[in-house]
Amino acid sequence: MTHPVLAALGLSGSESGTYLGNGEWSSTTGAGLLEVVNPASGETLAQVQASSKTDYDTIVERAQAAFKVWRTTPAPRRGEAIRLCAEALRENKDALGSLVALEMGKSKPEGDGEVQEMIDIGEFAVGLSRQLYGLTMHSERPGHRMYEQWHPLGVVGIISAFNFPVAVWAWNAFVAGVCGDICIWKPSPKTPLSAIASMKVCNAALKKAGFPDIFFLFNDGGTELAQHFVDDKRIALVSFTGSTRVGRTVGERVARRMGRSLLELGGNNAMIVDQTADLKLAIPAIAFGAVGTAGQRCTTTRRAFIHESIYDDVLAKLVAAYKQVEKKIGDPTDPANLMGPLNSQDGVDAYLHAIEQAKAAGGTVETGGAAIDRKGFFVQPTIISGLDNDAEVVQHETFAPILYVMKFKDLDDALAMQNDVPQGLSSAIFTESLKAAEKFLSAAGSDCGIANVNIGTSGAEIGGAFGGEKETGGGRESGSDAWKAYMRRQTNTINYSDALPLAQGIKFDL
Ligand code: NAD
Repeated sequence: MTHPVLAALGLSGSESGTYLGNGEWSSTTGAGLLEVVNPASGETLAQVQASSKTDYDTIVERAQAAFKVWRTTPAPRRGEAIRLCAEALRENKDALGSLVALEMGKSKPEGDGEVQEMIDIGEFAVGLSRQLYGLTMHSERPGHRMYEQWHPLGVVGIISAFNFPVAVWAWNAFVAGVCGDICIWKPSPKTPLSAIASMKVCNAALKKAGFPDIFFLFNDGGTELAQHFVDDKRIALVSFTGSTRVGRTVGERVARRMGRSLLELGGNNAMIVDQTADLKLAIPAIAFGAVGTAGQRCTTTRRAFIHESIYDDVLAKLVAAYKQVEKKIGDPTDPANLMGPLNSQDGVDAYLHAIEQAKAAGGTVETGGAAIDRKGFFVQPTIISGLDNDAEVVQHETFAPILYVMKFKDLDDALAMQNDVPQGLSSAIFTESLKAAEKFLSAAGSDCGIANVNIGTSGAEIGGAFGGEKETGGGRESGSDAWKAYMRRQTNTINYSDALPLAQGIKFDL
């Protein structure tokens, strides 16, 4: 029987994973079958037919043709298309939020929150469609005008991770859409249903208003088609969200063909709690940051540096907070629960492996440390103390709710430890000291793409540019001027004089 959450969105549980354009979903079978598993029960929810190479080529050809029309459609008109998508998502928010919770395993409020992020970035993109500004420069030559303009880039490829099955697509697709690009999406094989449902909601809204296809979708049975996508010269920009391991290969392959890539990779985010911190803020911030989405956010708090004078108190309070969370672990579609399961058995295995590694390196499990004995992929949120920042397991991102707590004496030491990891995504300090806060935010402070004071590492508003440094990949998405990644810049000089002066005063007498 079809799960009611799927039925509410018109899904049958036996889906095509390929939107070919022109209102057509591919009837391909035999290119691989994606089994969608409910992480809260381990049972199969649905099956999705993967796309064939022929499907893929049809999509790219249609996307290229669509680009020729879309690039000359006025940007505010493109904004209207995205406005309609945001409106349609708002109408379907509850149903889509439940699907994200069901398929990915995050809590219902987090699932709804993810759909809200899509709506928010849609509305941001509508405004942006009238603000794709270029600069005007003063020419050094008389009778000349110089300015820059931003043109649409082409066909944009979006490869997304399982943990944000829909928001990451919208961050890219809605901004790229107003920029005049056509988007082809390859979602995670672990969360194809949320992708199919979002695509159906948005494309129906576009079609009803007479807009052309600007969003396409394919699903890969393995990784062959995705690799082909990455290597395909017709894809002007590959926006990749996922692990550092895969992202490194993607970045290298796109660079080899001189394409553009935008990389949003793993994080190893830390929070510093100094001796002046307001613990009423810090404790819930650490708990939400480390346990929210069962530790499966790229911005999850994975390390906490706590001043030695308050360390014992903070640790005791954190353990007490975790015990509260443990009472509210369960079915993610029930809004009463604070934490759902991990997304897959692989996630549980990685969690257990990291705990064994931590213990072998001398770490102490302060709370949690085991899988929960019930159906599905549930684990206990875990705090580990007694490890140094340079321990192998602390240096790596384990995509699970494991927090390493460490002591510090001096803020400079805490900052050095915070920065001494390969990743550079999100960071935070809890302090009432202006000097400490400013030092943390200074050029000699946090080396991350996101640095917060008195709010946690996890989650971000769509208005800012989102992304991180070092092995997080350097990409920026969403707000601020992140739109520039989806356009090509052109510098124009116009001579309205009767002479031909050369730049830098060069003479070329003929
Ligand atoms: P993953 O790297 O396993 O997969 C990501 C995507 O890459 C999937 O769609 C997958 O099918 C695809 N893929 C796999 N092999 C490929 C290949 N050879 N060529 C092209 N594509 C390929 O990551 P995941 O487990 O889905 O997601 C978790 C990771 O994503 C974590 O490391 C997390 O920190 C990161 N993440 C980062 C951000 C960010 O904004 N920085 C956001 C969300 C998730």
